[in-house]
Amino acid sequence: MHDVVVLGAGLAGLSCGKELKKAGLNVKVVEKSAGVGGRLATRRLQDTWADHGAQYISVHGEVFSRFINDLQQQGIVKEWTRSVTQLTPEGIESSDSAWFYPRYTCPQGMTAIAKHLATGQDVLLKTRIVSVRVQDSKWYLTPESGEEIATAAIISTLPAPQFLALFQNVLSTSSQMLKAVQSVKFHPNITIMAGYPKTQIIPDHWKAFRCVDDFILSWISCDSSKHPEQITQPVFVFQSTAQFATQSLDEPDLEKVGKPMLKKAGEFLGAWLSHPEWWQLQRWRYALVQEPLGVDCLTTKIPLPLVCAGDWCAGKNLEGAYTSGLAASIAVRELINC
Ligand SMILES: Cc1cc2nc3c(=O)[nH]c(=O)nc-3n(C[C@H](O)[C@H](O)[C@H](O)COP(=O)(O)OP(=O)(O)OC[C@H]3O[C@@H](n4cnc5c(N)ncnc54)[C@H](O)[C@@H]3O)c2cc1C
Repeated sequence: MHDVVVLGAGLAGLSCGKELKKAGLNVKVVEKSAGVGGRLATRRLQDTWADHGAQYISVHGEVFSRFINDLQQQGIVKEWTRSVTQLTPEGIESSDSAWFYPRYTCPQGMTAIAKHLATGQDVLLKTRIVSVRVQDSKWYLTPESGEEIATAAIISTLPAPQFLALFQNVLSTSSQMLKAVQSVKFHPNITIMAGYPKTQIIPDHWKAFRCVDDFILSWISCDSSKHPEQITQPVFVFQSTAQFATQSLDEPDLEKVGKPMLKKAGEFLGAWLSHPEWWQLQRWRYALVQEPLGVDCLTTKIPLPLVCAGDWCAGKNLEGAYTSGLAASIAVRELINC
């Protein structure tokens, strides 16, 4: 039996798992996908790669700053850009000074951080947990296929709605944890990765663009500018607004979703952007939390030790996920007295 099972191998789950392993606990991280990272996501495609989840890292607190500095020393993370250009219905404008700060990325793709954290950890991939039960003072987690996993404590780093689907039945209706999780809502997002001919000239300063007051697009980035030494062709990433994603999330026809986004990118920056050589689309049902809870993590001992963590607890972004993961590793040790 495990001391702790961590659900989810995103930034929260992996930073938490690493701390628990360091503390000598018998911990397993269980992940439904074939790879680690969660929304820290990079896709390999057409001899290159692109980030289709988190676009960049921004740093505010001291603890996260130390973590990112360490990754920078190891060459996993590099500063990408300090400025973001604003695209408005009136045209291109530079952003005001509040938008001027260092943004970090990984030249090998954002999942490099997750792969680094996962090294040496017991991570079980391709294992979607579909139900949870309690028996004889133990948690039992049932995967879609394979054997049940028994553990003394669980740390869930799943997005709040996915946590609810699994744990609603084992928590009492009066549980404070349940009430808090039920209040959390996420924005969806649709992201397109698109490749352009090698001969296409891209201005050096084209890195990150924020679309203001647009219904379709919220963000455009030249993803290949994150690894200037290894460009095989220009690759761009386009992110929708939450409103456009809400309306298009379940549309089965890819062209109907993708074409308006590409058309809009062309209107903003140049008609050629509407006609890539290839493009792929990713739908995120739970992309960004609307309002984080403002707590590092949630804990309960009833029916058994359980901690909830993730970006939606401590903040809306990667720093929130990291902070929450670390806090969960401390909270669970208090719950099980280790
Ligand atoms: C399109 C997009 C753009 C973003 N841009 C930025 C940005 O530029 N900067 C920034 O800081 N943040 C950004 N974010 C947010 C950032 O990606 C998240 O805050 C952070 O990655 C969340 O990490 P997490 O570990 O809390 O959750 P996740 O990364 O979601 O990890 C949860 C994990 O649980 C797994 N899981 C779910 N259900 C099960 C199950 N039943 N069984 C097993 N495993 C399961 C999932 O597969 C996932 O790997 C962006 C997010 C998106 C989607």
